[in-house]
Amino acid sequence: MGVVVSPLIALMQDQVGALRQNGIRAAFVNSSMTGNEVWQVILQAQGGELDLLYMAPERILMESSLDLLSRIPVALFAIDEAHCVSQWGHDFRPDYLGLTALVDRFPGIPRLALTATADAPTRSEIVKRLRLEGARQFIAGFDRPNICYRVTVKDNPRQQLKKFLESEHVGDAGIVYCLSRAKVEETAAWLVGHGFKALPYHAGLNNALRRQNQERFLFESGIIVVATIAFGMGIDKPDVRFVAHLDLPKSLEAYYQETGRAGRDGLPANAFLTYGLEDVVILRKFIEQSQAEERIKLIEKRKLESLIGFCETVDCRRRVLLSYFGDNPPPTCNNCDTCLDPVATWEGLVVAQKALSCVFRTGQIFGMVHLVDVLTGKKNEKITRFGHHKVSTFGIGKELTASQWRSVFRQLVAGGYLEVDVEGHGGLRLCESSRAVLRGEQVVYFRRDADAPRERKSKAIRTPSPVSSPATESPGLWEALRAMRLELAKEHALPPYIIFHDATLREIVSTMPTTLEELGKIHGVGTRKLKNYGAQVLQLVMAFRVG
Ligand code: ZN
Repeated sequence: MGVVVSPLIALMQDQVGALRQNGIRAAFVNSSMTGNEVWQVILQAQGGELDLLYMAPERILMESSLDLLSRIPVALFAIDEAHCVSQWGHDFRPDYLGLTALVDRFPGIPRLALTATADAPTRSEIVKRLRLEGARQFIAGFDRPNICYRVTVKDNPRQQLKKFLESEHVGDAGIVYCLSRAKVEETAAWLVGHGFKALPYHAGLNNALRRQNQERFLFESGIIVVATIAFGMGIDKPDVRFVAHLDLPKSLEAYYQETGRAGRDGLPANAFLTYGLEDVVILRKFIEQSQAEERIKLIEKRKLESLIGFCETVDCRRRVLLSYFGDNPPPTCNNCDTCLDPVATWEGLVVAQKALSCVFRTGQIFGMVHLVDVLTGKKNEKITRFGHHKVSTFGIGKELTASQWRSVFRQLVAGGYLEVDVEGHGGLRLCESSRAVLRGEQVVYFRRDADAPRERKSKAIRTPSPVSSPATESPGLWEALRAMRLELAKEHALPPYIIFHDATLREIVSTMPTTLEELGKIHGVGTRKLKNYGAQVLQLVMAFRVG
């Protein structure tokens, strides 16, 4: 029997359900169970009737559990979501630090740590914290080629989201991430008001409602969950067609993990992010004001810089993302916005100099909005109050629009030519590398995105609605298979995708198998499922062949 350490009840339930469907003798022990239920599982484990036993870290570290495990032959400890051990990671779970107890208690039993997301520092922390020094590391590529990455400049994000959903994801299941609970509530309500099936999810909701919303997301089709980062770990729903971020995620790792919840079935999916300088200011403040030690703050700042670099890049997004995780991807991927609609750049030394000297002339304490007002020569109360209509940079930037200037400032921050004063009010100030620009010793290029019409962009990279394509081959069979799957799912109280993935149903539609043998060759139809559902599937296929 292998023991799997898993951080979430939902994750255990999901995986154990899927394993059992495939004929593997799996069970879990967790706090949602009665004493009697736990006892039944323990008896099974002692009787050698289990292949895999799932436990939460706090549960496995209880003396009674360690005691139980020392009495039965355990073949393996598999520590899932091992990045939870990382103290500066976004999913840190203190209980994971206690797992070294397993080393002392069971020195002879192999240990395995697994994670879907870990950059080099996190990997070395996993090794150190779980005492896996000398262990072999197996690093699969990080690429998720079916996910199309796209970053847009924030400009009324809700409307941008609505447009994205209406043009590309009608009736699709997806996740929308926001930074705060209040924004989650507002956005979910707003989407509902516009006819979408949206549900909120954040740590401030009571447990029953959270569970209910998560279950609807798993069991019903076409549900959009609007959530803080509290939602998603362990969500293995394969047909999530999009993940949208209305606010910046915390780091590229968080972004990769969150967007990685899209398209697990391998069918086309979208990652959509709206980004503005105000997000950067908020995140910088979070870091600065956190109680973490300086060393951790420094790492978090670097992580944020990588994230901004990803947002502002004129190169392939996938390349930036994969390089961050140490992969060596090709220069273009043809499945991200910058590849599909290459970004033009322009030489902007003079413009950069104007921006930097405006920061200097106004005292290095003002934010972007005010600086843009000064450069474009806008007359308002704040300008008059500070006498900024008299500074030499007032009105010297009329060659660009306000939104182009905002783009310039964002890119200057991203490029490290300006920094955000997070101790103060988030004003912009000069830094070491500003000097070379002001002296004219540094070439500066800007991406031409502020004036790029976004409609054209989204049309150019629209992907065909993946769910509808099999319907064109044999719409009746596709619908019938989905209906059958839903029935079976209800009967077994499981999410539909645990019965069969969409990808499996698609393959059935396109190959129209006539024998159990042919059906058994389709990906996602194992021996167990063939035995349980094979005859029913074939019957449906035959009906449509004849018809
Ligand atoms: Zn690309």
